[in-house]
Amino acid sequence: MRYRKLYPTSKFLRVKCNKCGNKQIVFSHSSNEVKCLACGSVLVKPTGGKGKIVGGEIVETLE
Ligand SMILES: [Zn+2]
Repeated sequence: MRYRKLYPTSKFLRVKCNKCGNKQIVFSHSSNEVKCLACGSVLVKPTGGKGKIVGGEIVETLE
């Protein structure tokens, strides 16, 4: 990987939706609300630069 990272501590996370069990990859520093692609419940809320997981659990961290 040769691209320059904008945020050195940012990561991609695999998150499992609490509601329907769908797993999807989300950006840890998302500045937008991220919704579950399957059921539409909110998974990540932006909180001043760092996304907060609200509707699911992190099952894997992808660097
Ligand atoms: Zn869901």
